[in-house]
Amino acid sequence: MTDRLIIRNAFMVDGSGSPGYKGDLLAQDGIIRELGIVSGSLGSVIDAKGKILCPGFIDMHRHCDVAALKEGFGKLELLQGITTCVAGNCGMSPVPNAPRYRAQLQNYLAPCLGTFENETFSTHREYAERLRSILLPLDMFFFAGMGAIRIAVKGFSSAPFTSGELKAARSLLQDALDEGAFGLSIGLMYVPELYSSTEEIAALASVMKGGRGILCTHMRWETEKLLLAVREVIDIAKKAEVPLEISHFKAAGVKAWGRVLHETIDLIEAERAKGMDITVDFYPYDCGSSTMMQMLPPGYLSMGIEEAIAGLDKSENIQKMRKLLTEGEPGWDNLSKTIGWDRTVVSSVSLPENQQWWGLTVMECVKESGAADEAEFVARLMHSEKGKVAIINRSMSQEDIDTIAGLPYSSLISDALYGDMKGPHPRLTGAFPRFLRDFVRDRKVLSLETAIRKMTSQNAARLGLTDRGLLAPGRRADMLIFDTGEFRDTSTFLTPTGHAEGLSYAFINGRKVVENGRLTRGDGGAVLASPRA
Ligand SMILES: [Zn+2]
Repeated sequence: MTDRLIIRNAFMVDGSGSPGYKGDLLAQDGIIRELGIVSGSLGSVIDAKGKILCPGFIDMHRHCDVAALKEGFGKLELLQGITTCVAGNCGMSPVPNAPRYRAQLQNYLAPCLGTFENETFSTHREYAERLRSILLPLDMFFFAGMGAIRIAVKGFSSAPFTSGELKAARSLLQDALDEGAFGLSIGLMYVPELYSSTEEIAALASVMKGGRGILCTHMRWETEKLLLAVREVIDIAKKAEVPLEISHFKAAGVKAWGRVLHETIDLIEAERAKGMDITVDFYPYDCGSSTMMQMLPPGYLSMGIEEAIAGLDKSENIQKMRKLLTEGEPGWDNLSKTIGWDRTVVSSVSLPENQQWWGLTVMECVKESGAADEAEFVARLMHSEKGKVAIINRSMSQEDIDTIAGLPYSSLISDALYGDMKGPHPRLTGAFPRFLRDFVRDRKVLSLETAIRKMTSQNAARLGLTDRGLLAPGRRADMLIFDTGEFRDTSTFLTPTGHAEGLSYAFINGRKVVENGRLTRGDGGAVLASPRA
């Protein structure tokens, strides 16, 4: 008995970027078999008249590493059409972890990944086994995070790797690749990764030489020094001889808008013209999202994160932090200056007495709280919340994002964060439908076909996945059906928790997982290994 699915009268946007056309599709046993005019009516038949049929969306940048293990995972992802997702980004992953630094790693990751105190995995093998032991609603892959590797080897120390430590780090990356990681992600804006030198990162990443993985980078700077940051990751990728993906490409902070972005694009295109394998991705919003920790000076945190945060109730420590915030530190992107406290919004706190700060800029909080200045307010807040505060940065210009969206080598991502937050960034629930609604339907920045390519085949190609991302015979029947007028995001920065609406159908391997905006099953996916593994 074969499992046949026929979709009739759809407007097919196949993911390649070619113009859409009206037609039918036949899938059998989870694989697309025929396109065009399909005869016969054996099996399930869906009439998609007036609707788009396209491949399922591939989000190669989410932070669902541990969210995937929790109750309810899959709903907000599938309702926005994501049928494949990738975790382990920005240097952050829950494994590897060493007993000595485990609690610190968990605290560090909590604002972005959520908590995982009850999980016992410490290696990539154990992590992948844990994912295989549960039913996954969508397909999932992962990168190995350099932050986790570095912390497993030497905690939050700022000292460079010794040769023994480098060897240990390389072996941990090797293990992750053996378990199916797509490559190495780095997060050079975060402690302790920001202590890593270009040479050190290249020495680690060179484990992937010869096509074993890609280097995916959250760069050291995304503001006025964006150009330098891109130079550095190009340098790392060249030294390590690996392909380069620049994550959430943007020019953050008013002073970087326009000119700095264009200079950086010129550099990337010059390297591409010389044959370098370098691509970028972006999320479709003009605000970023991060942790307050990232605003704190590394020179202050270097005493050890826990100690540093615990010490923020002492005036001499606040003064030390204030001095570094005022004067800056060499090599550190001082976001309080390059983006500004007036563009930094408190988006997640856990204590009841701190809820009043939610949705306010740090500058507004200072006025309301009666704190002497920003340093004092941030110190108090971080101390009471034990360092777990998330922020939204009003950091980008729409014009710049449109420029990036228009680059032929840019892909759409969500960069969804899964910390336990009252005010998550709306990209968690809405990035993919928002891209279609805002960039295609409302503002007409891109054609429907181009936008869909950036969410499907382009991402599949980047990851080396040849089994999905296109409506073509032989590809997996991961597919979406929707009306462009109805499929939409509902989350905004002020009302951030609404799920996407209006997706008529989603299929994974030809099996229906969404029907009329509702989940129909939660076991359509699996944890998968990179085809390079
Ligand atoms: Zn990042």
